[in-house]
Amino acid sequence: MKITSIEIGEIFVPLVTPFKTALRTVENVEDIVICIHTDTEAVGYGEAPPTAVITGDTKGSIVTAIRDFIAPAIIGMEITDLDGIMNRMHHAILKNTSAKACVDMAVYDLYAQNLGMPLYKVLGGASDRVETDLTISVDSIDKMVADSLAAVSQGYRVLKVKVGKEGMADVERIRAIREAVGPDVAIRVDANQGWNPKEAVRIIRRLEDLSLNIDLVEQPVGAHDLAGMQYVTQNTYTPILADESVFCAEDAIRIIQMGAADLINIKLMKTGGIYEALKIAGIAEIYGVECMMGCMLESKIAVSAAAHLTAAKSIITRADLDGPGLCRIDPYTGGPRFEANMIHMTDAPGLGITKVPGLNGEARLS
Ligand code: MG
Repeated sequence: MKITSIEIGEIFVPLVTPFKTALRTVENVEDIVICIHTDTEAVGYGEAPPTAVITGDTKGSIVTAIRDFIAPAIIGMEITDLDGIMNRMHHAILKNTSAKACVDMAVYDLYAQNLGMPLYKVLGGASDRVETDLTISVDSIDKMVADSLAAVSQGYRVLKVKVGKEGMADVERIRAIREAVGPDVAIRVDANQGWNPKEAVRIIRRLEDLSLNIDLVEQPVGAHDLAGMQYVTQNTYTPILADESVFCAEDAIRIIQMGAADLINIKLMKTGGIYEALKIAGIAEIYGVECMMGCMLESKIAVSAAAHLTAAKSIITRADLDGPGLCRIDPYTGGPRFEANMIHMTDAPGLGITKVPGLNGEARLS
């Protein structure tokens, strides 16, 4: 099975409710999607969101990276030469991690299809279900409480609450949500770099004093302020999860050796795909640091790839794979079944996605 071409398109999926964090507000998923064609009937699908504020990737940069740099480097290669394909891709262009993730997942899709197995089993996994949290966007207290109660009534048992815009006022948001949902719902807090180190310690200690039982606090301070994150981790009891601070395996080693965080959030759009994400998972296994698998504002292709990886690795103990849950519609055919908080893996080969609107001969951009 040889790679013959890469078809590039766009997907547009409206969100149920605008996605608001300390960094941005987004109303629709507008992602680049690709189809890798081979000299057989098999095709592999990939997806990349243009999360410029986090990865630096835009729609234009993703298309250019794939069309002008990655495609010429890997077209003609045998899909069984996974290591060779990945090395060629990662050397064809620096950074551009979302473009690489897009191609990486399509290559893994084909690699697993070639073996006739679902990707999570090819990666060595046995669990056929992945439980995800649901993100509660930063908003007024009343709106966040209403959104939280709606999520719980849909079956979600873990909420990820976005804060970081208003310092100590964020404590009131979290307290109101805890009081509304009761003690049995796990609450994760994501500050998206919104606090400074001392502010973060003050807020997290306050959450601890109020016994709000927070599962973890994600990226309390700036991505590059590792000393600040270390200060927060050392001066609070609540587990601290590094997100924007960890893109690659080298970042993970540095964070773990510094004790700058207790947990690591792996996202395919930061690592450049599954190939690099597996390296972070391996490092985390060595040090006994549990990981969360996260996603950007991605629809079902990219989140399916992340779910396959989550189902494959026991060191990934938490999943924040709510992209499809935030979308108003599912435009794809096939793939894992997303039923509220539970992602059910299937035995379909590869990622399992069999049809992507706009692709297969109808490319709009390539
Ligand atoms: Mg985050």
